Amino acid sequence: MNRQDPAALAALFAEGVGRSPEGIWLAPGRVNVIGEHTDYSDGFVLPMALPQACRVAVARRADAVVRVASRQAGDEWLEFPLNTGPGDVEGWAGYVVGVLWALRSGGHEPTGLDLLLDSDVPLGAGLSSSAAVGCAVALAANDLFGLDLTRLELAAVARLSENEFVGAPTGAMDQAISLLGERDHLLFLDTRDMTYRQVPCALADAGLTLLVIDSRTRHELNDGGGYAGIRRAVEAGAAALGVPVLRDVGTDGLAQRLAGLAPDVAPKVRHVVTENARVLEVVDLLEDGGDPRRIGPVLLAGHASLRDDFGISTPELDTAVEASMAAGAVGARMTGGGFGGSAVALVDTDAVPTVRRAVQTAYAKQGFERPEFLTAVPSAGAHRSDG
Ligand code: ADP
Ligand code: MG
Repeated sequence: MNRQDPAALAALFAEGVGRSPEGIWLAPGRVNVIGEHTDYSDGFVLPMALPQACRVAVARRADAVVRVASRQAGDEWLEFPLNTGPGDVEGWAGYVVGVLWALRSGGHEPTGLDLLLDSDVPLGAGLSSSAAVGCAVALAANDLFGLDLTRLELAAVARLSENEFVGAPTGAMDQAISLLGERDHLLFLDTRDMTYRQVPCALADAGLTLLVIDSRTRHELNDGGGYAGIRRAVEAGAAALGVPVLRDVGTDGLAQRLAGLAPDVAPKVRHVVTENARVLEVVDLLEDGGDPRRIGPVLLAGHASLRDDFGISTPELDTAVEASMAAGAVGARMTGGGFGGSAVALVDTDAVPTVRRAVQTAYAKQGFERPEFLTAVPSAGAHRSDG
């Protein structure tokens, strides 16, 4: 089946459910262009919605049953009572049923649903296939039940589901960009108060493509020296500087302030503070309306900061960045939480094959697993996709 074809998804739904869906809704995956490890310090992020998305065909049921199947989970129909709580649903279906739980916990009264998912966001590659599922279901529920929730409210519902029902501690970015993304724009999001602005970034018009390079490596984030250690250092840095969160520290006089910090804390603080500044710099450059290529060096500086100050890059991610740059990319950086996952390279569209080959060759030379590639431009956020 062609994944992009809503008619084929509707037909498969009808086969499994015995009637047509009431509609098909779509929500995209995302990649963060810059602003890494800033969200838990109330800082800035600048993600874009991917062209890759999760589609869900949905129809209401008269009873309090949820039936759900996914093309990415063997097409088998699973059945759950509507009134389930956190811990009741194991596996991928929790990302769907959890949204209905989150709506109920917000005082809404959804009925049962039949849902069939199909996604071309790679699962578990750090591109937020999970938020794409939750946001597609949340938007479908909003329309079908006439809930009239705002996009930000729907993002909060999908996030609550993922955090509390599934038990995955994600920040606010993934669901916000999936629901608020706009074609040819990045989303400048202030995680302190969830205010946001659409920042023009017409990559296609500028002859540019964002090449997403999945390093196919995932390292656990929960060892003592990893993610938890970083969170502790960031919090210790804020405490030592006498601020609630590092968002409250600017780059003016930063070197002096860092000099007074413990040697394991100072670089972590420097990353967060300078990363917030890099987000603002990229926003400025894009809003000035010049050539988007000008953001390339800022992306590269962001990578160096994550590698050297934060210590969360990997040989695979560094290789992706270095090989892309050597093959003519305009800028490149690792993206996401680190210790594996994906890198992004801003590349002249004509040069995409060359850059891909260069990264593949560099990976083969080092004996790394073969990387996967996606090409992306800033795409539309969640919407009904069957007209
Ligand atoms: P990421 O969000 O980076 O892709 P996660 O681990 O957060 O990685 O989410 C991946 C999980 O989300 C999958 O293991 C699966 O449980 C669920 N998921 C995402 N997309 C689908 C889909 N189309 N069908 C079924 N489950 C999905
Ligand atoms: Mg996820």
